[in-house]
Amino acid sequence: MDKIPFVTLEYQHKEISVALQRSLLEMSSSNNFILGPKLQKFENEFSKFSNTAFCIGVGNGFDALKISLLSLGIKAGDEVIAPSHTFIASILAITDIGATPILIDADTKTYNIDYKKIDDAITKKTKAILLVHLYGNPCEIDKIQDIASQYNIPIIEDNAQAHGALYKGKITGSFGKVNATSFYPTKNLGALGDAGAITTNDPFINEQILKIRNYGSNQKYISDVSGCNSRLDEIQASILSIKLKKLEKWNKEKAKLIDVYKKLLPSNTQYQQITKNSIPAYHIFTIKVNRRNELQSFLNEKGIKTQIHYPIPPHLQKCCQNLGYKKNSFPITEELSNTLISLPLYIGLKEEQIQYICTQIEYFLNKNGLS
Ligand SMILES: *Cc1c(COP(=O)(O)O)cnc(C)c1O
Repeated sequence: MDKIPFVTLEYQHKEISVALQRSLLEMSSSNNFILGPKLQKFENEFSKFSNTAFCIGVGNGFDALKISLLSLGIKAGDEVIAPSHTFIASILAITDIGATPILIDADTKTYNIDYKKIDDAITKKTKAILLVHLYGNPCEIDKIQDIASQYNIPIIEDNAQAHGALYKGKITGSFGKVNATSFYPTKNLGALGDAGAITTNDPFINEQILKIRNYGSNQKYISDVSGCNSRLDEIQASILSIKLKKLEKWNKEKAKLIDVYKKLLPSNTQYQQITKNSIPAYHIFTIKVNRRNELQSFLNEKGIKTQIHYPIPPHLQKCCQNLGYKKNSFPITEELSNTLISLPLYIGLKEEQIQYICTQIEYFLNKNGLS
């Protein structure tokens, strides 16, 4: 069996190679590189896809989060509720603007923010609730909306891992007052470099974001607010337009691969439970096992590449030391960090490769008395 990478975009890109090449060639003779027609086209397409009135392209997912927070007027001294089990960007976007993340442990089943713990964490300083639909699995949005509206606190979605997921038939990235996403190359919808976007239905927030991403200006050389440079460039926008047409199909293909995994893995294997009333947009497929590190080395020897999402949770990272959390602050998140292993998942992964991966996992578990 050939080596199985953790992820490759090779097959995806083969499927659209003619369009990709045409687009890159066209760009090389274009005189429009920044804030041009390709961006406008993609922004229209993505706002339609997201069922929101506005989409604003930005430089990357981190900036999308940061600018979303800024657009709500969140500043130093404010608190933002966020999940402890997430990629570090979700948390650093909050600390980067001087606000304080108030972290909440994960739900043992969905691995998303445990909505039952949000109410207790709300204070007078709470200015937003940040949701992350981790690995593509939507949060319990209804429950969280109930709490948010009770206190009149806006929701921000970090939809970087869930492009195209549905909750009660409605697409993620359309629930929050403002929603941030990343088009990092390996995300479900990915550029050929860094890229991100924000969606919203609020015209005032849209105006704010248009300014913040471009030196506080949406009229040449007139700066109304303090801003930065975070623009989604024409090349990436044109690539994203091509890939957006395929997203639904690719999401379905990934869902089928997950079905194969679930059928072939040992029957007592534990994995993320899909949130009720939702259709995920699978980004990462993790299983939960004891002796995870040994399993990772074992699979590596068998030519199967895996990854860990995430080996050190944000609250235990050195960069977050000043938040005052310590070991055991979030026991469920820490347990997930110690036991989750992410298996290969990409368009072009073959059923017989999944069969091979599952056989090796079963062998490891039996040998170690873990099954
Ligand atoms: C990828 C990701 C980001 C950050 O995106 P970048 O484009 O790499 O800055 C933020 N949040 C989550 C949940 C992500 O998975």
